[in-house]
Amino acid sequence: MSLEIKNISKYYGKQKALDAISFSAKSGEIVGFLGPNGAGKSTTMKIITSYLKPDDGVVLVNGLDVSKNQKEMKKHIGYLPEHNPLYADMYVKEYLQFIAKLHQVSEENITKIIQLVQLESHSIKQIKELSKGYMQRVGLAAALLHDPDVLILDEPTTGLDPNQLLSIRQLIQEIGKTKTVLLSTHIMQEVEAVCNRVIIINKGKIVADKSLDDLTKEKTLTNVFAELTS
Ligand code: ADP
Repeated sequence: MSLEIKNISKYYGKQKALDAISFSAKSGEIVGFLGPNGAGKSTTMKIITSYLKPDDGVVLVNGLDVSKNQKEMKKHIGYLPEHNPLYADMYVKEYLQFIAKLHQVSEENITKIIQLVQLESHSIKQIKELSKGYMQRVGLAAALLHDPDVLILDEPTTGLDPNQLLSIRQLIQEIGKTKTVLLSTHIMQEVEAVCNRVIIINKGKIVADKSLDDLTKEKTLTNVFAELTS
């Protein structure tokens, strides 16, 4: 399934947050979406997932305009927002049952997803009892419950310890084999470990869109990033 962003612009009041950005991604691609704070990453992700409306441009999933087919398109898009909003008092399984109901997916999917994100031993715990790494797994599980083709992950590994980082990365790699994944992160090693493509955004404009190999042929990713965004 393909994701296409065409000429998206977004203003907050008079401030231009996105300036006619365009890019695309296809199944089996894990695209690292990089940029300094305030570059426009979250805004782009919110527009892809229909949480925000662009002032101009379109988002196409498999050629269909997301804004014109919101209900249908939501079935194809999974989203883990930056501040992973969870109901802390709910039990893990109860929360996933609640999300499953919203998406009208069966109980069977919950069991499958709990296995996929390795939450079996924590499914009867309250969300507030979980470590940050497990909370991220719950957020990922919620984003994956309806088996979307496109997965939007906004800084999914921020605040995780090295072991949690590793296991969430492995999970993203596994998921990325069959889905289109757009992953924002500030961790360059993470991009090198899991992404096959890199898009860099700066001040609302795309300044690089290449395979990881092409982008890092002559310089490290950190140096390329610094040159394009400082
Ligand atoms: P990033 O995710 O790359 O840090 P954002 O998309 O959050 O960037 O922000 C892009 C720009 O838009 C920034 O200048 C930010 O201050 C501004 N911005 C983001 N959200 C809002 C908002 N709700 N109201 C006003 N300005 C916003």
